[in-house]
Amino acid sequence: TVGCVTRDAKGHYAAAISTGGTTITFYGRVGDVPMYGAGIYAGPLGAVACTGNGEDIIKHLMAKTVYDLLAKGVPPQRAVDRALRAFPPRIDLGLIAIGPRGTGGGCNYSPEKQAYVTDYRHQMAWSVAE
Ligand code: ASP
Repeated sequence: TVGCVTRDAKGHYAAAISTGGTTITFYGRVGDVPMYGAGIYAGPLGAVACTGNGEDIIKHLMAKTVYDLLAKGVPPQRAVDRALRAFPPRIDLGLIAIGPRGTGGGCNYSPEKQAYVTDYRHQMAWSVAE
């Protein structure tokens, strides 16, 4: 997956994702990427993009869950950390979020560490266009 979240100079947010799906995919499977609120979400207060195990991302409505925290004023990294607490441990997940004033946050699941790490730059990046 390639994921991107951005905020322009006028404060408009956007998110985009591109995916190749999963390695073993059932015919007709629809992953999280095309489901607004699951793998991707943007609104007037932020933008979120996810990668990883689509079924779990859908079940936890991950992007909208993080967005709702941003909308409550929770800073992006804290919103990501909080949403992760409800997510099953040891599930492949990468996530980026951008919030007001271009503040960003994210996480990646690290199979080596068997933990979520916040050094999300390995996988996805957030940006601010001013
Ligand atoms: N989230 C995608 C899916 O489950 C996989 C990916 O990360 O590209 O379809």
